[in-house]
Amino acid sequence: TDAHLSAIEKARVLNAFVMETPDQARAMAREADSKIAKGDAGPLAGIPLGIKDLFATKGVRTTACSKILGNFVPTYESTVTSQLWRDGAVMLGKLNNDEFAMGSANETSCFGPVGNPWRREGSNTTLVPGGSSGGSASAVAALLCMGATATDTGGSIRQPAAFTATVGIKPTYGRCSRWGIVAFASSLDQAGPIARSVRDAAMLLRSMAGHDPKDTTSVDIPVPDYEAAIGKSVKGMKIGIPREYRLDGMPAEIEKLWSEGAAWLKAAGAELVEVSLPHTKYALPAYYIVAPAEASSNLARYDGVRYGLREQGKNIIELYENTRAEGFGAEVRRRVMIGTYVLSAGYYDAYYLRAQKVRTLIKKDFEDCFAKGVDAILTPATPSAAFGIGEKGGADPVEMYLNDIFTVTVNMAGLPGIAVPAGKDTQGLPLGLQLIGRPFDEETLFSLGEVIE
Ligand code: GLN
Repeated sequence: TDAHLSAIEKARVLNAFVMETPDQARAMAREADSKIAKGDAGPLAGIPLGIKDLFATKGVRTTACSKILGNFVPTYESTVTSQLWRDGAVMLGKLNNDEFAMGSANETSCFGPVGNPWRREGSNTTLVPGGSSGGSASAVAALLCMGATATDTGGSIRQPAAFTATVGIKPTYGRCSRWGIVAFASSLDQAGPIARSVRDAAMLLRSMAGHDPKDTTSVDIPVPDYEAAIGKSVKGMKIGIPREYRLDGMPAEIEKLWSEGAAWLKAAGAELVEVSLPHTKYALPAYYIVAPAEASSNLARYDGVRYGLREQGKNIIELYENTRAEGFGAEVRRRVMIGTYVLSAGYYDAYYLRAQKVRTLIKKDFEDCFAKGVDAILTPATPSAAFGIGEKGGADPVEMYLNDIFTVTVNMAGLPGIAVPAGKDTQGLPLGLQLIGRPFDEETLFSLGEVIE
């Protein structure tokens, strides 16, 4: 814990942590020590972690990196983090993220952007760590913590993991409790770990997962020993290669990485089959209707009365307006406007309802594929390596949204997906591959992920 606390101090330039909690960390570490001495240590005793600022932490400021939450200090602990503490983990502090987890570069945070510890060969340009879990990925990659919590609504665990050569898994929807996690799009949001290795990710997920009566969407099935899946033979497994993910103009290095990944799995005894997911091309547009619609509804609670920031106004309506105009950043305001529009009378059927139907078709594509005996699907994690801060999405937000092209389908279908470091681009930057699994079959992803890693 001490070593990590001093590493954090030395790496403040990365802006990965938005709140350091050294006193708490040392107290938790001492408690873990005494439990170890007594012989009743939990599986994560003394493991120092960073916590994405989307997780409510009792007595510790939680902001979702939005000005509107101001100095909000929860009086309760999220289920996922309380399970980590139950198992002996130590909290080093809260990690930066895109405001309300909306973004792919950690550039929408009210605390400013996060730096990626990786650099292009021969260049000093600071690159983004991806987003929205940019602080989590950067902190793990820079060895500031042994693992981190993260959340993924459309790719926010897997894309930052791919940009930083870390491992990130978005479990099946319902695997982890969403209770006490700031909501973005409730039907898509899932918590998961970002870690230094597939094994670490397996250990963290085991502690984070599980049924919670406080979240009716969390599923009451046993949580397997994920670590036991590591090293298990993948011989005879059927791996789908979806033809629709082979995009026009896909960089040659991504294409190469994808074939290499397939070759490694084949060498380990897996069988490769081409599969078709015909509705893939509608996933991104449908996601950018469903996610903002749910966000506009979830963010209605930030009214200047119940939480954080409160601006003045002549009457209650003005108070709401001034608070929301001042408290939300540009990307969040854009999503609230899109979401409100697609849910409004007269447009609901044309946009929201249509997007929900497309979502059903996307889910069915995967079901058809798994029904043919496919165990997992292999795709690139991102369409490019990390880019420079400010390099993308300035004039055109859609340029940024395109980052999620390989990841959003997984959230739309509620499936588990893991991003594993697999190689480097021509400039020496990390690239990742994604494995998509059957519902609640994270174990297969850990087995296959370890082969690629
Ligand atoms: N980049 C996507 C978005 O901005 C996904 C974010 C996420 O998974 N939280 O919506």
